[in-house]
Amino acid sequence: MSAAEWEQYKISDKFAELTTVKHIVHLPVARRIIEDGKIKSGLVFDKSRLKKSRTSVTWLSANDWSPGSLYGTVEFQFSWEKLVKNKRIYWVEAMPNYHPAAFRFLLTFDEMTSELVTKYDPEKDNGPLRKIDGQWRWHPDYCSEFMVADDFLISETVGIDFVHHHQKYCRTKSWGCIEQTTNPSPQMTSGRLLAYLLAHGVKDLDKHLTPDAGGRNRILDMASAWLWIVLDNIKFVGPLKSDGECDSLIRGALALFGVDRIDDGKKLLALVTGSAEAHAALARLVRSHFNTPSWDFGL
Ligand SMILES: [Zn+2]
Repeated sequence: MSAAEWEQYKISDKFAELTTVKHIVHLPVARRIIEDGKIKSGLVFDKSRLKKSRTSVTWLSANDWSPGSLYGTVEFQFSWEKLVKNKRIYWVEAMPNYHPAAFRFLLTFDEMTSELVTKYDPEKDNGPLRKIDGQWRWHPDYCSEFMVADDFLISETVGIDFVHHHQKYCRTKSWGCIEQTTNPSPQMTSGRLLAYLLAHGVKDLDKHLTPDAGGRNRILDMASAWLWIVLDNIKFVGPLKSDGECDSLIRGALALFGVDRIDDGKKLLALVTGSAEAHAALARLVRSHFNTPSWDFGL
């Protein structure tokens, strides 16, 4: 551990502005986070100097991964400016064997006395994280890993998005990661999460999904289009057609979709008399959830 370690990763001419950092998880973990109302920090289990400490952290990164994420498919986004406020910054380590190499910083409210980390001043120290004239920068050729000794409330998210899982590797499940092997599209993951939010009446992420004045929202359009297609593939055989009956059934089916029981949800919805009634019930639920009476599918 020396000052020279971070200088190998220093920003030269190439840098990216650091505004948003992301916490990516698998869909079941995303549901748990939403239920808890926050991302709970946890002890470090990864290969790291901090594994020996009792520090609880939340992992965030500024990177986008074109081959897919190693951590899952649901991305919670936070403001770096807000996150870094009133926190101390420490250099933890570099992981030169990762592809690309990773650099790790620890952010804490309290002074760290541990010899495992080194105090880092982004205005003076010449590493992959800098603050120059009030603007935050990072080195985008490396994997940025920020370990923050704090919980993150869902209400503090500045955005949510959906990504592909990496097709070869999963960093959190050593084997049998369903998202790695089945490679769900961002549309499918967003649709399943929307089903969960609608069925349970969860409002905490509404600010990222609510339609604009023109009735559109990128995430809501993508997620509701997936649900529309699922409904379109049901063979409707049932007798139920009143609005009240269809509204109850759609809520039940979405609750099943929301816990990955797609086929069971489809069987339940098949009790509706036809596709038009089912789609209309879904539209009514979206309108009522977001309080947007004129909303319709953006297909
Ligand atoms: Zn995985």
